[in-house]
Amino acid sequence: MEGSNREDEAPPRLIRGERGWWLLGPGGVARLGDAHLTPAGALRPDVERGLREQGLFTVRPSRSYSLTVLTATACNLGCAYCFQNLDQDDGGTSPPRIASVRLTSGVIAEILTFVGRRQAESGMDGLLLTIFGGEPLMNPRGCRELLERAAGYGLRRAGMVSNGTLLTPRLARQLADLGLRYVQVTFDGDRPDHDRIRVRRTGGGTFDAIVGAMAAMTETTSIRCDLRVNVSPQNVAGIDALVERLAAALDPSRCTIHFARVGDAGVGYEDTLAYSDDLADRFIRWQRRALDLGFAVPRPRVRRPCNACSYRDGKYGAVVNPDGALYSSWTTAGRPELRVGTARDGYLPRERTDDRWFTCEDTYGRSGDRREEARFRDRVDAAHLDHLSATGRLRA
Ligand code: SF4
Repeated sequence: MEGSNREDEAPPRLIRGERGWWLLGPGGVARLGDAHLTPAGALRPDVERGLREQGLFTVRPSRSYSLTVLTATACNLGCAYCFQNLDQDDGGTSPPRIASVRLTSGVIAEILTFVGRRQAESGMDGLLLTIFGGEPLMNPRGCRELLERAAGYGLRRAGMVSNGTLLTPRLARQLADLGLRYVQVTFDGDRPDHDRIRVRRTGGGTFDAIVGAMAAMTETTSIRCDLRVNVSPQNVAGIDALVERLAAALDPSRCTIHFARVGDAGVGYEDTLAYSDDLADRFIRWQRRALDLGFAVPRPRVRRPCNACSYRDGKYGAVVNPDGALYSSWTTAGRPELRVGTARDGYLPRERTDDRWFTCEDTYGRSGDRREEARFRDRVDAAHLDHLSATGRLRA
């Protein structure tokens, strides 16, 4: 990916829908008929020209730097599959984790000075901030201070990936006042499954605590809730019931929901859910039901390069540990052997980071056959576009 020109074009995706074809490009989506394709299934040259002129293939360069900051690497939960675990748990609820570090005022200053330099070098004037952990709210002061000081760097959008259990209404109001726009939380299935998988380090499930915190957050602030549903062999049977339960407990109009087949992310976490037509049909059913219940379900998009991990040396984005160490992606953060630099001194020489540069996992997980995965994605995404179009929800 090194050397990619962000003002360049990205290849579109052409997928078969119920009535014709969907063309997904970085610049939008178009519906095509069989007459728009050659007998071999490629775009006709004149059609391709027209779509290009409409900007469908054009990657619009972002004017904002993408920054992910871990405010704490510790977590109050002990999920067995967590990619930040260093070993399997021994049947209890406390798998060993990456070293615990908290973000301090001094490191925030170093990070933002680093960001200012990168913005100037890349001609950017905005900032997209993701607050990450561990559990970021293990360090609420660090979250508040980071948001407050990021405002001086053109903060355009700020979100947090949290387990949700520590978010009180008071803290949510403070974070909203400082510019936090969304919080992403994860559900590991319907309540019985989730409460077996997403457990406190002190023991006990977390389903009701997360739902309660998200309900209170959307009632008392303008922060939107982004619900990620992990789908695995352990919970797939309960996802229909989960969608109904979430709709009953939350305000769906304030929530986005997306379903993610979980890849093999953590130590000893075995993923055996195949990319079958049956699984695709389940995804399609969950997405349609969620839309009918009032949730937003993101429309499919083409894969675009990730601002942090797709470009070397933090040109358009960076991931920073609470101690100021730079990492290529959030999946490697907190592992000293994969550090690629520091906010204070910049990136290490290329020859020292070549074997440390990893990319973040994709939406549907990383394991399994790539062709099966692509077929699965096409089936799910085409059905979603068909439904969005049929219900008047499709916007390019
Ligand atoms: S809540 Fe997130 S960070 Fe904490 S143990 Fe679970 S997966 Fe890991």
